[in-house]
Amino acid sequence: MKFLSDYLKEKYGCKVYKLSLQLNVTCPVRDGSLDTRGCIFCSAGGSGEFAAERDKKVREQIEEAKAKIASKAGKDAAYIAYFQSYTNTYGDIGYLERSYREAAECDDIVAVSIGTRPDCISDEMYDVLGRLNAFVPVWIELGLQTIHPESAAYIRRGYDLAVYDECVKRLRSLGIEVITHVILGLPGETQSDMRETVKYVCSSGATGIKLQLLHVLKGTDLYDEYMKGKVKVMEMEEYMELLKELLPLIPDDVVIHRLTGDGPKKILAAPLWTGDKKRVINEISRLVREIDSSAL
Ligand code: SF4
Repeated sequence: MKFLSDYLKEKYGCKVYKLSLQLNVTCPVRDGSLDTRGCIFCSAGGSGEFAAERDKKVREQIEEAKAKIASKAGKDAAYIAYFQSYTNTYGDIGYLERSYREAAECDDIVAVSIGTRPDCISDEMYDVLGRLNAFVPVWIELGLQTIHPESAAYIRRGYDLAVYDECVKRLRSLGIEVITHVILGLPGETQSDMRETVKYVCSSGATGIKLQLLHVLKGTDLYDEYMKGKVKVMEMEEYMELLKELLPLIPDDVVIHRLTGDGPKKILAAPLWTGDKKRVINEISRLVREIDSSAL
């Protein structure tokens, strides 16, 4: 198992922090192209409640985000500019390219990470990303969530698995790193379904994987389903058991970027245990030690 912190340390020789940034963009599941309601789990902030405000210049957002962690990061830290909220390859291509470049040209930025969807990268955008990658390493984060069509329809993902496959292939041919997001605990999915998704992602060409436990955020359609008793969330012990099963499936050349993730506390409805970060980190560390020792 290779975790992001180790990967970054090996690659850059220092501590690397991700700075969450926000562009003035939307997504096709909100603007009416595919739907207007958003993915069922996604809050109005578009998966980026922690991001800086979208109307500020990228450089300004970066300086502010750096200032916030300055005492912790110290002078020798490096940073990844992370365009997190909504679909960051979807919109005016000139504006998007200028924004990526602005981030890439800031001091101490060692990579630009762009969250998007595989159905929202046009031919022109692949060219933009290829040019950007020649200047600074580019990571593309794709919200796949699941390989199973019923679950994809339930969450309103709006594209087929073949679209993901093609996108990963094209990005990798440009030398761009691809990090695939997976949601664990989607309604109706069994442990075996989740195992299949993780295995698939690991053999898809992705260079990284983010595992996110299903969260219920207030104000989402998933919240309504949860309140009606139609959606169950996992207890911590259950989730750790699941990770114990899934982590050994991830080969060392697929970097593990995340193992949980919590929603913004003020809108997190369930599971509330994820808000206790210290406890979650301790449990995950214990689990990783346990897996490592059993592999010896
Ligand atoms: S998860 Fe992404 S694609 Fe889905 S509604 Fe939220 S921002 Fe849009």
